[in-house]
Amino acid sequence: MYAFKNIKQLQEDLQTGKTNCVTLVNETIKNIESQKHLNAYLEVFTQTAIKQAELVNQKILNKTAGKLAGVIIALKDNICYKNHKVSASSKILNGFESLYSATVVEKLLKEDAIIIGRCNCDEFAMGSSNENSAYGNVQNSLNTKYVPGGSSGGSAVAVAANLCHLALGSDTGGSIRQPASFTGTVGVKPTYGRVSRYGLIAYASSFDQIGPITKNIQDAALITSIISGKDEMDNTTSSANVSNETITASSKKFKIAYLKDCVEAEGLDPEVKQAVLAKINYLKENGHTVEAVDFPYLDYLVPTYYVLTTAEASSNLARFSGIHYGYRSNDGKDLESTYKKTRSQGFGKEVKRRIMLGTFVLSAGYYDAYYNKGQKVRRIIQNKTFELLKTYDALITPSTPGTAFEFGKNSADPIKMYLEDIFTVQANIAGVPAISIPSGIHSNGLPMGIQLMCNYFEEDKLFEIASLIE
Ligand code: GLN
Repeated sequence: MYAFKNIKQLQEDLQTGKTNCVTLVNETIKNIESQKHLNAYLEVFTQTAIKQAELVNQKILNKTAGKLAGVIIALKDNICYKNHKVSASSKILNGFESLYSATVVEKLLKEDAIIIGRCNCDEFAMGSSNENSAYGNVQNSLNTKYVPGGSSGGSAVAVAANLCHLALGSDTGGSIRQPASFTGTVGVKPTYGRVSRYGLIAYASSFDQIGPITKNIQDAALITSIISGKDEMDNTTSSANVSNETITASSKKFKIAYLKDCVEAEGLDPEVKQAVLAKINYLKENGHTVEAVDFPYLDYLVPTYYVLTTAEASSNLARFSGIHYGYRSNDGKDLESTYKKTRSQGFGKEVKRRIMLGTFVLSAGYYDAYYNKGQKVRRIIQNKTFELLKTYDALITPSTPGTAFEFGKNSADPIKMYLEDIFTVQANIAGVPAISIPSGIHSNGLPMGIQLMCNYFEEDKLFEIASLIE
């Protein structure tokens, strides 16, 4: 089995014939097969992957291969790949096949990556533990009694368990960073507008971003650069220059802040806190300035996030009516009852909860009290985040309040589950880029994560500072 270290090394090994794309695909498929119990993949695209591998092998011989030649990439099951199934891990999209590829997929294929399959996730990317999939839980490969995090749990486990070289996830409030933190991998949520959402099944459109889950920061930087850029199919994409493919290693001394309210938050696992403080000390020892700053809105992050994202979700998910896509109930007698039966039978419990909550906050009687208020609070949080990032190069927080938890621990109490997102949602509310990188191993044997946020479109700086503490 080829021991994957990073994309750069892989390119060299393919050039010198140490391995080849078809072998890589076969080895990976075998590995996925042997780790089936993890339930990380909903489908392996065996035929297309082998075909692509043969093609890329030829290109390597002809010296015309792209930057991601032979890199085996898994997609979260909410990213469309032409002529392949995609379901958002929901019964309601059962049988649906995409007619087009997401822009990110086009960009990866253009660089000769190999798409290996689609990964299990929380239904419509709603969840923090991957317990909300219609196709069963994903197990954390480091300890199968524990959740992998969510909603991109399958993607993170696929990377951690060597079932691909890297994966794409989507992050609306932490769904890339939290599972990365729970599996000891690197997860990036790019700046809002950095990466096209065309072909991403929408959850909350003004929060969603696609990003990579990788084994190291270097690969994360390369993939972020490749999938970024203006896209005429998504008007929210920015024409700002894409970030660099490689990490700049300057000798610059950075001015960094850590959010005191987060690091001193009640309920933060003491070892997670210690790990963050140790990284802060390490930065200080290396001549960087790290100061504690107040962030007075910590308690408002999760409520703001859930008011606004459920509102957007209730609107985005209205299209799943049994008429256009996927599943249709046979129990309907007319149009309206077909809608109702299809949606009642097709959506899972958490998705229904959010549609109801979102419909409520948008309803005529409560719009001002909740949705409108939520928008105003979002602006206040954005302004404060932006203000801090004008003074500081980066903000540090833990990625999550604790390590991965056991199955069932939070699933009975949605509020408890929602609080899992307390440190990650800020970046989506504000739109700034953020990364989770491993910060050490807890005494329970599970990985912990530290999060960095930088200002809009400062991914280069984000990767540089992250690599200082990797
Ligand atoms: N856990 C958060 C939620 O359930 C984040 C989900 C996400 O980022 N897609 O909404």
